[in-house]
Amino acid sequence: MAIRAVVWGENIHDRENAVVRGIYPKGMHGAIAEALNEDNDIKASTATKEQPEHGLTEERLAETDVLTWWGHRDHGGVDDRVVERVAERVWQGMGLVVLHSGHFSKIFKKLMGTPCSLRWREAGEKERVWVINRNHPIAAGLDPYFVIPETEMYGEPFVVPEPMQTVFISWYDGGEVFRSGLTFERGAGRIFYFSPGHEVYPIYHDKNVRQVLRNAVKWAYNPAPAWKDVVKAANTPVDKAPEPIADKGPKLHKPGEAGLR
Ligand code: ZN
Repeated sequence: MAIRAVVWGENIHDRENAVVRGIYPKGMHGAIAEALNEDNDIKASTATKEQPEHGLTEERLAETDVLTWWGHRDHGGVDDRVVERVAERVWQGMGLVVLHSGHFSKIFKKLMGTPCSLRWREAGEKERVWVINRNHPIAAGLDPYFVIPETEMYGEPFVVPEPMQTVFISWYDGGEVFRSGLTFERGAGRIFYFSPGHEVYPIYHDKNVRQVLRNAVKWAYNPAPAWKDVVKAANTPVDKAPEPIADKGPKLHKPGEAGLR
């Protein structure tokens, strides 16, 4: 069965800004889903912020293997209950690919636990994306580097936890560098952050970027059944201990009582 990907788009600049509309008539989420669907092993659909529950109901997320996230204008407008729901699915094993300005999304900040801040400049600079680990599945099919002719500069320090792997580092005309492709794991879920994707440049039409998106979805996919009770902290009674033990010492809880949360 194909990997079930949901491409989430904030869909505000896509509708309201003429430049963005011109580049992405079907929205950025439309272009990203199209890139993913070029691979027969992926079946991508879209969800957008203005839909009920932002298009991310419990049922929809339960049938999602990998979620991609692009937001910018209104991170604060994303319902905390949906953020909580997405985080739980990641901990259960759903893959998450966070794109560009999604570094400041509620879901990414929650899963990183750091400010996720960076430096930035909007000056149509050239970006050279260097492949740091050429054997990493997310770099499959790429040359040692690729160039994005016009981009927004994202510069270090990028205040995220030390990643599992730095797959890409970008260099810009102005001299800054940025860790543009980073992998993380939270609970049973894999997370990839990829910085290219400013909305006033046609970056999601770039063939190398599209290759990275497909590779990232395949890497983030966890074929194991969802770890449904990952957030539960279950009590193991004395008589269920793997080795026989004596029940002794003072106790806070009565037998069978639910734990504190
Ligand atoms: Zn941007």
